[in-house]
Amino acid sequence: METYRNFINGEWVESRSTRTAPNFNPADPRDVIGTVRLSTVEEVRAAVEAAEKAFPKWRAVPAPERGRVIDRAKTILARRKEEVARALTHEEGKLLKESLGEVQKSINVLEFMAGEAMRLTGETSPSELSNTLCYTVRQPIGVVAAITPWNFPVAIPCWKIAPALLTGCTVVFKPSTLTPLTAKMVVEVFQEAGAPPGTLNLVYGAGGEAGRVLVEHPSVCAISFTGSNEVGLKLYHDGAAVAKKIQCEMGGKNPVVVLEDADLDLAADGIAQGAFGSTGQRCTATSRVVVMEAVADRLLDLVAAKARAMKPGVDLGPVVDENQLKTVLGYIAAAKEEGAKLVVGGDRAPGAGFFVQPTIFDQVTSRMRIAQEEVFGPVLAFLRVKSFEEALEVANGVKYGLTSSIYSNDPGRIFRFVEAIETGITHVNSPTMGGEPQLPFGGMKATGLGTREMGRTAMEFYTELKTVYFDYTGRRRETNIY
Ligand code: NAD
Repeated sequence: METYRNFINGEWVESRSTRTAPNFNPADPRDVIGTVRLSTVEEVRAAVEAAEKAFPKWRAVPAPERGRVIDRAKTILARRKEEVARALTHEEGKLLKESLGEVQKSINVLEFMAGEAMRLTGETSPSELSNTLCYTVRQPIGVVAAITPWNFPVAIPCWKIAPALLTGCTVVFKPSTLTPLTAKMVVEVFQEAGAPPGTLNLVYGAGGEAGRVLVEHPSVCAISFTGSNEVGLKLYHDGAAVAKKIQCEMGGKNPVVVLEDADLDLAADGIAQGAFGSTGQRCTATSRVVVMEAVADRLLDLVAAKARAMKPGVDLGPVVDENQLKTVLGYIAAAKEEGAKLVVGGDRAPGAGFFVQPTIFDQVTSRMRIAQEEVFGPVLAFLRVKSFEEALEVANGVKYGLTSSIYSNDPGRIFRFVEAIETGITHVNSPTMGGEPQLPFGGMKATGLGTREMGRTAMEFYTELKTVYFDYTGRRRETNIY
């Protein structure tokens, strides 16, 4: 059985830590895949020091040359697609077709990012003064920590590591302890692609310890974090106190609004995909349906039929671990207690794995926990409303703001929804999940802090903008107006 090794300064090195965590198959936790050593404080510091040492040389490499490393990484990941997808399914639990989808998305991210190396542009601007050139340049920020969750353990690291490397930053990557195998594979891909020693380092470790070292280390200039609000907000607070640049992408409570004129079959299909795809363990999963009373019964029947037809283990993967299982079952119990009406599911599915039945509650009100808090499992809440205004109020009545969707054929109300919905991403007549690499990804309100990931905006986080005033008169000016 494999013991995963850290990757520091271009070498795979075994941690000396005696504390370990098992990597297991959530579809059958008796199937132990490997062992993670929870790195010591010194080991995390060694990774930061390697990144710090590699930075001056890496930033001096011309950006198009750095981009070619990302381009080769794309080709290597494409070659290893099936193998990485199988590892992803094995340790995280998503269906193989979902894993193949995630790996393909990661390839697309690398494809987009590689090209961006040729477009790290600034701007030129006219000056108030004659014979003066004003322009901006983007420069890498330095050592960046990428702290990532288990639910997209290939795509999220790729969409942090690629823009960091291509802009000339060096990276310390700390993945979730639940998905160490795919983390290793992601790093192998960049290693084979020619990322020089020290530019990308990997340390396995407990969040509260290894993660904390990264937050506190003075040589780490920026932290790109994706994960829960609980961890993200604390990290944001602690990092800000020592003047680090921080980006946090956190939880969601994503609504689908269905108006009376919607194509209900299309809406039901999108809702079921959004709620139960990836076992509801996507930050962009659909967790609330905000539906006009007039069509609520019909829509509920259609979605419920789809949920009943889904077989855990075949159409739906397990949740990731026992903690997550307890959390999901806890929310189901809370919804029952608070008076929501259980329509489908509501229990663990049989077998050794952490499977939960696809679950739907009707008659949910905005005050219930199931309407406000992120469940991160295959659990869907129906909230019935009587007007478009009420639908907007309910959809926006949560602290989160990642993604949303509206099903309607009425352009007037669709545009009003797009204008008023408080989410960083919104979809019209399609499910809440998904995002293309050439477009910004991230949330408003309590979901997202800092600049957006992916798209061209991704480069903002990893770079400092320098404004240059170049006076080519060669003499002292008589008047300097400002
Ligand atoms: P988590 O917050 O428990 O862990 C995320 C990462 O932070 C892990 O690597 C963990 O080890 C590390 N960590 C934990 N404590 C830390 C600390 N004190 N200091 C520094 N690092 C620490 O999240 P998770 O359970 O792995 O992932 C699920 C969450 O991620 C959900 O809330 C989901 O919505 C969110 N998520 C958000 C997005 C997005 O883009 N908005 C995408 C995917 C997942």
